[in-house]
Amino acid sequence: MSNRSLGLSEALHAYLLETGVREPPLLRRLREETARDPMARMQIAPEQGRFLGLLVSLAGARRALEIGTFTGYSALWIARALPPDGLLVCCDISREWTRVARRYWAEAGLDDRIRLRLGPALETLDELLAAGERGSFDFAFIDADKPAYPDYFERCLDLLRPGGLVAVDNVFWDGAVLDAEARDDDTRAIRAFNARLARDDRVELSVIPVGDGLALARKR
Ligand code: SAM
Ligand code: CA
Repeated sequence: MSNRSLGLSEALHAYLLETGVREPPLLRRLREETARDPMARMQIAPEQGRFLGLLVSLAGARRALEIGTFTGYSALWIARALPPDGLLVCCDISREWTRVARRYWAEAGLDDRIRLRLGPALETLDELLAAGERGSFDFAFIDADKPAYPDYFERCLDLLRPGGLVAVDNVFWDGAVLDAEARDDDTRAIRAFNARLARDDRVELSVIPVGDGLALARKR
């Protein structure tokens, strides 16, 4: 996990930021403010934010989900790619981190497009399903606690329409997926999730080496 795509040198990353990302000044400011947080490495890379935004607009998405919001950086990239009447439902348990997020969303004038649901994401997703929102979302980004990835993925598939896209972050887990010595819960969970996703024929799958590995699964 880091704020630049795995394998890129610092110099090449700086070049990429200069030539190929067009990070808006507000997003850059949020990234710089978050950099002072000891957990800053949880934030997605700028090139990944731009890419997620591109996917959201290519998909023509109007309704999106985010599982794991932190200080709101990935959410801002997603929300700004939605149409003015679009909706992004953000799930997180941290009041403190999402307080920062809310401040930037308001400054961007995008807070009317973002609904933050504070609480365990699984509960929120189950509430959405119970409220009849099955099949009503176009896009989902999963980036919260890793052991719950399989549950998030199932809920997101239920909430997406056919043709909708789920993007799952950190599927390389900084290379630990290949390290036989790495047996912690997060690494095991990601390995198991990847193995299952590789065989899941309910989706079209493309895993790409952007950020810390991003799995793109399109619901058939
Ligand atoms: N997508 C964010 C970004 O790029 O800035 C980073 C998200 S960070 C990797 C993971 C987030 O998941 C944290 O903000 C944490 O509070 C949240 N989280 C952890 N467990 C959760 C749970 N059970 N339900 C909802 N959110 C959770
Ligand atoms: Ca992540």
